[in-house]
Amino acid sequence: MPVRVVGNVCIDTTFRVDRFPQPGETLNARGHADGVGGKGANQAVAAARTGADVRFFAAVGTDLAAAFIREQLKGEFDLRHLSEKPLPSDRSTIVVNRDGENLIISGIDCAADFDPLRETGLLTVLAHGDILVMQGNLRSTVTDACLRAAKAAGATTILNPSPLSGEAVDLAAVDIVIVNQGEAFEITGDPDPERAARDLVRRGAKAAIVTLGAAGCLLLEDGAVDQIPAVKVVVVDTSGAGDVFCGCLAGYLTKGWTLAQSARAAVAAAALAVGRPGTLEACPSRAELTKIMNTVEAESL
Ligand code: ATP
Repeated sequence: MPVRVVGNVCIDTTFRVDRFPQPGETLNARGHADGVGGKGANQAVAAARTGADVRFFAAVGTDLAAAFIREQLKGEFDLRHLSEKPLPSDRSTIVVNRDGENLIISGIDCAADFDPLRETGLLTVLAHGDILVMQGNLRSTVTDACLRAAKAAGATTILNPSPLSGEAVDLAAVDIVIVNQGEAFEITGDPDPERAARDLVRRGAKAAIVTLGAAGCLLLEDGAVDQIPAVKVVVVDTSGAGDVFCGCLAGYLTKGWTLAQSARAAVAAAALAVGRPGTLEACPSRAELTKIMNTVEAESL
């Protein structure tokens, strides 16, 4: 049961500053670093580290940034489905001040232009029983077309429609929708996670998961609600926790586990990420995700 993650990848350049610059001001940072990011890449790495067979479909440019992205991801999964475009690779500049607040500017030429069904072999590799995972970074018409193609091929579809585009989220071809509480409210207009989850199911999803930060997540499946508490940790940096959750959930589903079991393991994996700085750097290792897998399996015996 392979996982196909379709989405975006970018270089994140993070600058640490004492304060944000004023308009027109040039400010020297206290430090800066490049890393690979993008919700698609983050979720693909998390899924691969659960031991799942992962293929990642995304677009990069033909520049040095693309070479850096390939170099950073090469140990994680097969990179043959990266589509190359005569465009600058996507990148985000992230400025973080002393209080941990951030400003982010993203260049998204590759993601905005990417059409996986036309540009990659996605249709030829999608098969019955596969799991397709998508996020909100591609054009919504492209995302919908991929989800429908995957359903037609007999795959299970997971949509984490983040970041929301402002357009209505189409859940007709979605088996499992995963949103955080803010997104659940933005889509449904309902601040109550359970009612929002029921609304998401009414809109077409077979199951809905609303992640609740330090409160874990709420799973709605077959009309029944399962409240899964978070694992208690000392919080260092919550960024990327949602991506670890989504990627690991997909990865653990390939073990033949139920959605509830997979969500429990994903909550444990996300807690590890919250206890560390960074986004992709905070993703748990293969050894850590295997340990979580063994614990969940032992508990279900
Ligand atoms: P982010 O945008 O920060 O990556 P998100 O907003 O998409 O995350 P959250 O609901 O904040 O999603 O977090 C996803 C999951 O991460 C939660 O369901 C929970 O399991 C875990 N998590 C988040 N914050 C905490 C925390 N403070 N303590 C323990 N687990 C947490």
